[in-house]
Amino acid sequence: MTARSLSELFFDPAALAAEIESRGGRPFHARILREQVLGAGIMDYDSMTSLPGRVRDSLRVDFPILSCRELDSSVAQDQTTKLLLGFPSPEDQGRHDTVETVHIPSLRAKGEAGATLCVSTQVGCPVACPFCASGRAGLSRNLAAHEILDQFLAGRAIGKISRSVIMGIGEPLLNFKAVDQALRLVHEELGLGARKITLSTVGFPDRLRAVAPQEPPFQLAISLHTPFDTERDVLVPAMKGTPIEEILEAGDFWFETTGREITYEYVLLGGTNDSREHASTLGRRLHGRRCNVNLIPFNPVSDSDYNRPRGEEVEEFRASLEEAGVVATVRWSRGLESDAACGQLRLRAAQR
Ligand code: SAH
Repeated sequence: MTARSLSELFFDPAALAAEIESRGGRPFHARILREQVLGAGIMDYDSMTSLPGRVRDSLRVDFPILSCRELDSSVAQDQTTKLLLGFPSPEDQGRHDTVETVHIPSLRAKGEAGATLCVSTQVGCPVACPFCASGRAGLSRNLAAHEILDQFLAGRAIGKISRSVIMGIGEPLLNFKAVDQALRLVHEELGLGARKITLSTVGFPDRLRAVAPQEPPFQLAISLHTPFDTERDVLVPAMKGTPIEEILEAGDFWFETTGREITYEYVLLGGTNDSREHASTLGRRLHGRRCNVNLIPFNPVSDSDYNRPRGEEVEEFRASLEEAGVVATVRWSRGLESDAACGQLRLRAAQR
């Protein structure tokens, strides 16, 4: 298959070298090209002045730097930018498969420069959690490694990226080969530390155990959402029948193997999974494990029956986890006025 963008060529060094050579360039020009685009973030051929003009002019004709187009974007008051990116559909080049990428500038109070980039891994999602907009229409296809890289390059064009969360549309462990290829390149050539990259997954135990020994280890977040097996079968349908204990044991294995504490994510659905009994059972199950909990108050998505809990209820849940000896933080989502819940921009575009 011939590559259609420069980003795709970055994953095939032999093809990149051949393209450069056939245009009159020298082998070391491949390194310069990588340094300019991946290292320095240069996003137009005109600015790559250390490459011969004829090589640039010729590459430009056949290889746009990114394979995606920005189809829509929204900027919230706090400067969180949500991009709707369109990738050529493999069946019909005239059509676009869309995903969302979100650039979230760090709060200055935290003293960290840069932004967190939230990245998608699939077009749609096969897991179909009932509270999530991303899985509404199921899975269309996996993203290729260069399409994941494209999101980093498009995000970095907005502003410096200091962290990334693989928490956009899709389930990363169901497309892990491409995710891993992309993140390795991001780690090695965009210079983002593995500690600064968090993979968020529903936690298929076998897959977690297979990935844990890989170097370098990424940070891990597992979407748990309830301490009760029967309820999890409803909230995370694709994992129906997998006991929570197996997921927690795989989480323990991750910690033992990588030395990195994991995060359990818990979307708080008012009146559904935010009772005292939920908090105390979750606290008991996690007590003594090397982990922390990130509570995410439900972000309303259209046509959903779930409720967003009130601030006091969220705080009560957090406090009872702390009482049980489990560190818990609350993630009040940023940029709520502009369709904060992931998958909403895409859903809205599809409805149009
Ligand atoms: N597929 C991955 C990444 C999902 S997005 C995963 O399941 O972990 C990151 C987190 O946001 C997940 O915990 C997911 O369950 C949660 N989430 C999805 N929709 C949400 C919504 N409407 N409100 C709050 N959290 C939501």
